[in-house]
Amino acid sequence: MSATYNFCAGPAMLPVEVMNKAQMELLDWNGQGVSVMEVSHRSKEFIALTEQAEADIRELMSIPNDYHVLFMHGGGRGQFAAVVNNFLGNKGKALYLVDGSWSSAAVDEAVKLAGSDQVDTINIVDKTNGINRVVIPNLRALDKDYRYVHYCPNETVDGIEIFDELDSPWPIVADMSSNIMSRQIDVSRYGLIYAGAQKNIGPSGLSIVIVKDELLSHPQLAQASIMDYRLAVKHDSMYNTPPTFAWYLAAEVFKWLKGKGGVAAMEKLNQQKAELLYTFIDSNDFYESRVATENRSKMNVTFYLRDESLNDEFIKQAKANGLVALKGHRSVGGMRASIYNAMPIEGVNALVKFMHQFAAKHSC
Ligand code: PMP
Repeated sequence: MSATYNFCAGPAMLPVEVMNKAQMELLDWNGQGVSVMEVSHRSKEFIALTEQAEADIRELMSIPNDYHVLFMHGGGRGQFAAVVNNFLGNKGKALYLVDGSWSSAAVDEAVKLAGSDQVDTINIVDKTNGINRVVIPNLRALDKDYRYVHYCPNETVDGIEIFDELDSPWPIVADMSSNIMSRQIDVSRYGLIYAGAQKNIGPSGLSIVIVKDELLSHPQLAQASIMDYRLAVKHDSMYNTPPTFAWYLAAEVFKWLKGKGGVAAMEKLNQQKAELLYTFIDSNDFYESRVATENRSKMNVTFYLRDESLNDEFIKQAKANGLVALKGHRSVGGMRASIYNAMPIEGVNALVKFMHQFAAKHSC
């Protein structure tokens, strides 16, 4: 069978080396004769795994010592709620910048939990002529006192990415579910970073939280104990039974990343992959991108066939060529190629080749 390249936005493909290793040790982890899924999270072997995972992510992202790294339940949406309940309290206000579907969903959760009078929003996408462009106002000129500003630097559905670091007088909370570890960032500029694992880290359900210690003195709303950052810190992310298999796979992905040269090497490769695809999309009249050049996501490449009546045929033919999960999100239509860290450049080459052939066949 020839290779299948999976462009799913998440749960997304994981590195093939990691999957092979997991398969090999599925029934016998660490010479114990049982699966990693079947051992106590408090066993010394599993604790060693978690310590190594934390050390590796700290190294990969250069996380300063005054930040905690938490491995929590509940994916990205779990953190939409946790951030509000841990940081907003009963009186304060938060600012949410909206650049697409997920930051908008984060606003909905914040309003649901805290009420609309505690949540201000600013839409930061300009859609002039059907092209999405991010325009961020000068936050320092707003003269407001927010507990935090929340934003999503990579909008998975819309294919919009914000590459410049925010300049904010308030702690920055970033939903990096779909671009964590895809490029180097300066963690010290953030109050809190969170990411659902199912794109660049591992299986769904797990979320990674990187939080600055001083923020944990913020007032809290009453909340479920398993979403309480202070309890998670106090119990080393084991207040209740953690998602152990997801944690194990995340640990393996971190080792894989280190072996590949870390985030700097990934950034270079991700740049090459995205450039290949966008250059091809721009080079012909058959396909189009609807995102301004400076905001085109390097993880989720959204594009449209100019003749949208060919969409179903495109998906069908792509699948027949081993290129799966290219359909855009139902809310925006078109196509989306998610090319996270685990996607090899060969997958992007195969996609470009297919797109070229499909265009040649269907152009009049
Ligand atoms: N934020 C972003 C940027 C996402 O892409 C997603 C999921 N695709 C979520 C949040 C929600 O994650 P989950 O489904 O794990 O709750």
